[in-house]
This record gives sequence, C-alpha cells and structure tokens, in this order.
Amino acid sequence: SPALLWFRDDLRLADHPALNAALDAHGECLCVYILDNSGSTRSPGGALKWFLHETLTAFSKSVEAHGGNCLILEGDPEKLIPQLMKKAGAEKLYCHHRYQKAARDQDDAIAEALEKAGSEMVRLHGTLLRAPETVTTKTGTPYKIFTAWWKGFKALGTPSKPVATPGKCALKSWDAILKDAGKALKPADIGKALLPTQPDWASKMTEYWEFGEDAAQEIAQDFASGPLDHYGTGRNDMAAEESSRLSPYLRLGVISPRQVWHYCADKGAKEDREIYLSELGWRDFSWYTLFHNPHLPDRNLKSQFDSLGWRHSRKDLAAWQRGQTGIPVVDAGMRQLWETGWMHNRARMIVASFLAKHLLIDWREGENWFWDTLIDADPASNAVNWQWVAGTGIEASPFFRIFNPLRQTDKFDPKGDYIRRWVPELSRLPDDAIAAPWDAAPKVLEKAGVKIGKTYPRPIVSLSDGRDRAMAAYRKTRGS
Ligand code: FAD
Repeated sequence: SPALLWFRDDLRLADHPALNAALDAHGECLCVYILDNSGSTRSPGGALKWFLHETLTAFSKSVEAHGGNCLILEGDPEKLIPQLMKKAGAEKLYCHHRYQKAARDQDDAIAEALEKAGSEMVRLHGTLLRAPETVTTKTGTPYKIFTAWWKGFKALGTPSKPVATPGKCALKSWDAILKDAGKALKPADIGKALLPTQPDWASKMTEYWEFGEDAAQEIAQDFASGPLDHYGTGRNDMAAEESSRLSPYLRLGVISPRQVWHYCADKGAKEDREIYLSELGWRDFSWYTLFHNPHLPDRNLKSQFDSLGWRHSRKDLAAWQRGQTGIPVVDAGMRQLWETGWMHNRARMIVASFLAKHLLIDWREGENWFWDTLIDADPASNAVNWQWVAGTGIEASPFFRIFNPLRQTDKFDPKGDYIRRWVPELSRLPDDAIAAPWDAAPKVLEKAGVKIGKTYPRPIVSLSDGRDRAMAAYRKTRGS
C-alpha cells in the first residue's frame, strides 16, 4: 500500500528523511499539506501566509513533475489525517518531528488515533541540524547560554550530510482516490485562505523574493561562493545586504539547514564561515530553547520581569509599527519590514531594543507585530530573539544592555545608505546629519527639504529620557 506523507514546515523534496524513508519502505507515496484551522496551533501571520501561498504553489509543481500531486486541505489535522489514511488505504503516515508543544501534542493525538485504527505514524528528525534532546549538559539539564550550547553542539561532530534525493521519486496522484471523497476532503482554495484581499499589501513583496526549492538552492550556493567569504563584516552592514537571506526558505523548510551547512562547509574564509555556521546554530538553539521552554513566546523566561511596569501606549506602538518614530534607523528597519516582509538582523535588534527599552512597551507587542509582518516569522527564533533583546530571556543578555540607535547607525550604516533607501524623505541630508536630523542646523535641513515635525516626525521620545525611564523601571523589578 502507498505511504501517506504529511508535509509541514519541510516543503522540499531534497534532503527529506521522511520522504526517503517512505519511498524506501513503500515504493510510492501520496503527499498532503494541511492548513490547520483547528486553533490548536498558532496560525501563521499575514506575511508568512503570503509566502506560504507562493511556496505551496511552487512545491505543488515539483510534486507534479514527479507524477503526483500534493493535496492541500484546510481543516483539523486530527480529523483529516485518519480520514485520508482510510480513503487511501495507507498503513503508514510519515512526517518530520515538530518541536513546539501544541504541535507535538497534536502529533501525539494523531499517532494514538492511528494506532487504534491499526495504522502507524512514523516521525523522523528532519528540520534541524540536531534534534533538541541531543545536546545536553553533563548533568542532563538543558543549556541556557548559546556559547555553552554551541560548544556542546560542536563536540558532537559535524552535522550529518544531507540525504540524497531518491533516484526514482515515485509520487502518486490523488485523482482516482478522491473522485467521490465528499466535502471534507475537497482541496482548499489556497488563494482565498492565504492571500490578503483589500488592500492587497502583499503584491509589493513579490519583487523581492523568488519561490521554490530550486531558487532556494541557488541562493544558498551563490551565498556560499560569494558573500560568505566576508560574512563577518558583511552581515552587519545594513545597506549592503550581504547576509544569505535564506531565513524564509529555512522557515518553511524549502531548504534544510543541513544543506545550507554543507554548501558552506568548505567555502569562504575560515573565520567568516565559523561565524555563519554559528548563526545557523542560533536557529537550532532557538528551537532547543523553545522545546525546553514551551511558553517562551508568551512568558518572560526570567519571572523577575513579570513585575516590570511596561507602558501601554497605542500611539507610540503605532508610530513604531509604521516607521514614524522620528529615529531614522528605527524607521528604516520598520519600513523595510513592511515593504519586503524581511528586516536586516542588525535593524531587528535596534528596533526591538527601541520598543522594549526606549518606549518601554512589552516585547510581546513587538513579537506579535513581527509574527504578522515577517515572511520568516518563526515560533522559536522570533520569541528567543525578542526575549534576548528585551533582556527578559536567555542568559548573557542583561536588560540594561540598551542599544543606542545613533551609535548603531554610526557603526553599521555610517554613510546613511540604509536610511536613505527606506526613509526617502531624509535622502538629501548629508551623511553627518542623517542619523539625528533633529540636531542638524536649520540651513542643512532647509537645503535637504526636511522640516522636522512636518516632512519627518520629531522623535517620539528623547533617547536619553527613554533610556533613564527603562533603567528606572528595571530597578523596580523584583530581585534587582
Ligand atoms: P543570515 O545572517 O544569512 O543567517 C543564516 C541563517 O541563520 C538565517 O537564515 C537564520 O535561519 C539563522 N539565524 C541567523 N541569525 C539568527 C538568530 N539571531 N536567531 C535565530 N536564527 C538565526 N529569524 C527568523 O528566522 N525568524 C524570526 O521570526 C526572527 N525574528 C527575530 C526577531 C528579532 C527581534 C531579532 C533580533 C532577530 C530575529 N530573527 C529571526 C533572527 C535573524 O534576524 C534572522 O534569522 C536573519 O536576519 C535572517 O536573515 P538571513 O537569512 O540573511 O540571515
């Protein structure tokens, strides 16, 4: 009998251990993807839904090129999977492990239901470099600090090589099976389920991204044989955009982290390569941290911060979201996010610190906004990084580390090119005035056509007052 392959955040055919295992054991398999509307797992935000739409479209074409079709359903997987297994006459369901608690619980429930019905769910590891249980301290407790975890990770050797794509990838078509399947197994209208309607804010993002497995492989190879060689400096230059930009593809598993790792393994300068591989390591570490702390997206990892007096200001939050704070580098980052669905890592740190510290707005508001607007929005990386910047989470990043947006601009956008690109109303300002236009001489502003408070907002908070306010709030938390 054919196997059923349930694709989740692994929308690729290469380096797919579950697919290989299914084909090895059964010779052919049926592919399914489910848009989960059961409410038991966190649904993707708007931007990720758009990227998912484009990715599923490309993925379906690849499956068709191998003689099958990917059935895309919308509904509750706990109900749909057993129905599909029965209809297809499949005895085994293959998929990769998921590591967030709600998804694990859902998988466990499905495994139990299948077992009762005489079939089996086979789960393999396939979305991380290493399964989260594998890296542990000598006492068996989870690591809390990245550097210590990374040492433990590396002590286990190089992550294994990607598995070869099966020579004959025999994917089966659903057409005959589902001829009279009824309403519940009717393919979803993915355009209706995933794309925005009015206004269509996503159409502008199309020009920044390519879709599908071949595109992701090409991006990884180009990066490995080019910018990787100077990643150590290139990754921090906000205007140069010399990071790999693979995060959306890694998010949906269009490419696997092992593939990326091994593309880079013998390329570039050693030091730069090491930094890049450790960034890939941060992705694994984020999942590791979420696995061991399921409430990470909703709760401070350090409970001391539960008593922090966050401000509730809809006005300031909206100014931050729209890139209208009056601090150019913050506005540049937030506008890049809105326009492209992605933001440079350095900018992410700056805007997150500005929200949680200078505006003293709860990091969860920021996490939510990123969740809705990033095409790489990821339950683990988003939460870990927000808590890291806010200083409420993982070790080695204290609350009192407050990014100064002006110093960050000096260091990482010294000519203001990033700001000019995303905040065009400031583009005619000279290099030395663009980071803090409110301080520029009236003549300079006039020549550049900038009127503070009219063509560009006055800062919504003074940087020194914001900093002092954050420190005062921090000192009042329990245990400080
Ligand atoms: P590269 O520099 O080329 O790095 C390669 C890969 O390594 C990335 O694609 C990513 O998978 C991984 N990586 C790099 N840095 C990190 C990191 N700090 N944490 C975890 N993984 C990392 N990344 C997401 O994928 N999804 C998110 O939702 C997300 N939210 C973030 C929120 C905040 C507040 C901050 C500060 C960072 C966040 N990041 C997130 C991490 C990082 O900013 C992005 O992974 C990176 O900018 C993606 O660009 P890239 O692919 O060019 O990265």
